[in-house]
Amino acid sequence: MNQLMGQFGHPDSDAVPALECRNVGRTFMIKKGMFAEKQPLKAVQEVSLQVNRGEVLAIVGESGCGKTTLAKMLLGLLEPTTGEILLDGVPINSVSIKDIARKVQPVFQDPYSSLNPRKTIEQIISLPLKVHEIGSKESRRARVEEYMRLVGLPKRLVHSYPNQLSGGQRQRVAIARALIMEPKIVVCDEPTSALDVSVQAHILNLLQDLRKELNLTYAFISHDLAVVEHLADWVAVMYLGRLIEFGKAIDIFNNPKHPYTRALLDSVLTPDASLGLPEITLGRGLPNPLSPPSGCYFHPRCPDAKEQCSAEQPALIENEDRLIECHLYK
Ligand code: SF4
Repeated sequence: MNQLMGQFGHPDSDAVPALECRNVGRTFMIKKGMFAEKQPLKAVQEVSLQVNRGEVLAIVGESGCGKTTLAKMLLGLLEPTTGEILLDGVPINSVSIKDIARKVQPVFQDPYSSLNPRKTIEQIISLPLKVHEIGSKESRRARVEEYMRLVGLPKRLVHSYPNQLSGGQRQRVAIARALIMEPKIVVCDEPTSALDVSVQAHILNLLQDLRKELNLTYAFISHDLAVVEHLADWVAVMYLGRLIEFGKAIDIFNNPKHPYTRALLDSVLTPDASLGLPEITLGRGLPNPLSPPSGCYFHPRCPDAKEQCSAEQPALIENEDRLIECHLYK
């Protein structure tokens, strides 16, 4: 699989990927009732992905598809049960959590709950520097002001508290806090989904500008393909813990192949009649991950399902310009 990934992902580049997942899986043991036996819940299964420095990898799928579990593993907050994650070619489990934090930083979904309401903006943004014992109080203050400027926050807010800021300003604070450690990689977990639509575009534009200016690599988690359309270089689509389609964003958006990806796109974009694709809607909810369907996990919801689909799980294969897990493609 990794050989396939390497050939497929970056054929022209010998560069060591900034971030790489090799057959990563994470299983949780879950109790359904007080007296019930624990059952395995495979939140992430055999995910192999890679992204080079300065690129944006979007990881998309419905709630419960495993993308947030994957994000936590990329941040070193959860250990994979199987496989490994590499940062600049170095296995993450050989790096201390402090050193991981210097390389990878998160921006979380909810700027309302992710900022301590009792701390000032200066205290919030400078906290990582303090934890890592970087600089004096004065130099930390100067750096906070520098990063506030970078994310478009006026200096006068330095002594304000989160509840005195708008949602967009709070997310800018969260971004400044993430960047002040000068990480190479930022894991953005639904960073705009708690914001008004009018503010979302500003935050996405800011992330795009910062990426260019600082040569950042993003792993951008979203349930909404429309959000990542203008930002992503690569798109990985996940379903019930499995990677089911992976390719260049331009190819995925112009020609979605997996029925699930088409359904996701149909739900957010106006279908392009010239593609000749039938519109697919995701009627039923995601199946219970504790007892996933037999064969292809998507078969109970798939309009293209055939007999083979409920009996046999498709393998992730290379098909022209992408990786795909579906019996429709050879
Ligand atoms: Fe649909 Fe079958 Fe492909 Fe699964 S393998 S997505 S059920 S066509």
